[in-house]
Amino acid sequence: MSQRLALLGATGSIGASAVEVVRHHPGRLAIAALAAHGRRVEELAALAREFGVARVAVFDEAALPALRALLPPGVEALGGTEGLVALATDPGVDRVVAAMVGAAGLEPVHAALAAGKDVALANKESLVVAGGLLTALAERTGAAILPIDSEHVALHQALRAGAPEEVRRLVLTASGGPFLHRDPASWEAIRPEEALRHPTWKMGSKITVDSATLMNKGLELIEASHLFGLPPERIDVVVHPQSIVHSLVEYRDGSWIAQLACNEMVFPIQYALAHPERWENTFPRLDLAALGQLTFLALDDRRFPSVRMARQALAAGPSAPAVLNAANEVAVAAFLGGELPFPGIFDTVAEVLDRHRPEPVADLAAALAWDTWGRRQAEEVLARLARPR
Ligand code: NAD
Ligand code: MG
Repeated sequence: MSQRLALLGATGSIGASAVEVVRHHPGRLAIAALAAHGRRVEELAALAREFGVARVAVFDEAALPALRALLPPGVEALGGTEGLVALATDPGVDRVVAAMVGAAGLEPVHAALAAGKDVALANKESLVVAGGLLTALAERTGAAILPIDSEHVALHQALRAGAPEEVRRLVLTASGGPFLHRDPASWEAIRPEEALRHPTWKMGSKITVDSATLMNKGLELIEASHLFGLPPERIDVVVHPQSIVHSLVEYRDGSWIAQLACNEMVFPIQYALAHPERWENTFPRLDLAALGQLTFLALDDRRFPSVRMARQALAAGPSAPAVLNAANEVAVAAFLGGELPFPGIFDTVAEVLDRHRPEPVADLAAALAWDTWGRRQAEEVLARLARPR
């Protein structure tokens, strides 16, 4: 029987690639429930018709009437975080694909794991905000958190080559983003359109800006630490502009295991949906001879302080990554809105982290409260750093 998915964040970049994977494997995968923010209800309704889904949800309840008008009769439409949680815990759903952007993913992901459902996770922000909580919860209920992020899918595969005690360190690859070689003296002038031109991946706008600041790699370091149970000092980053080697594991005997594939998200998504199986497909294949060369260089922490800040936040204590993520989300939105210069993203995150005194995060309510606190502090910092539109 097909595995029935709840696809949350269906209208985004990961959502589209996940739909492509489902279309590719009709006998194996089915979509039982769909959710998105609510800005593109036509797209959501078209997917609901194509896959014959029973339930659809939008975060923005104001979009419900327009959505209901477009859905075939008999399809239930839900709104708000409760709507997303209802889909994530639906008895007719076998696996939840968390492909929404931002900390808004935390509650549905938490609910899915609490209900014992496996989660294929693109929404790295939820692990950054409450990684300790989510991994402990998954352990209690027996649910699996299967990464979709390409680096973590690479590590998941490379870690199959040895026992945990044989691992020396994890090495995440980073494309370096569009400003790898741009003189920081001109960073004040960077326009959102420039930051949105990613050299190797086509993705949603928030993660594309995160890739330009390399905060994406900082978030991924925190994500890897929670997924694979290693401290930040055993996770490194190397810049690899071609995005073909997706990450590597160094074993204690000096052997390295790397994972390579075309830089298309259908590969990691299929891995997460097929696991523990591995399915054939007809997606484009890697041609190393055509590529010619793969290059690697050290990350310059002085130009791109994000990975260092993320490392420090993770070491500082459970609430600090939640606060870092919140400040980053607010700063990226302000940059995209033309209110904050590009280097202001680093300044905002650094100042909010500076104001923060880390504490344990006992439950979901505490994680959400730290998220709110970080956002409020970031708004305050922005009021000073932001430029008038
Ligand atoms: P996107 O902006 O293209 O899509 C986001 C999706 O989430 C849309 O369907 C949107 O409607 C939905 N959404 C937004 N706010 C929501 C809310 N409050 N509640 C419910 N749904 C909401 O983003 P994306 O590039 O697809 O990224 C999604 C997630 O996957 C992010 O966490 C990102 O870091 C991660 N990720 C993306 C890629 C990639 O290649 N795009 C790779 C690795 C990880
Ligand atoms: Mg990634």
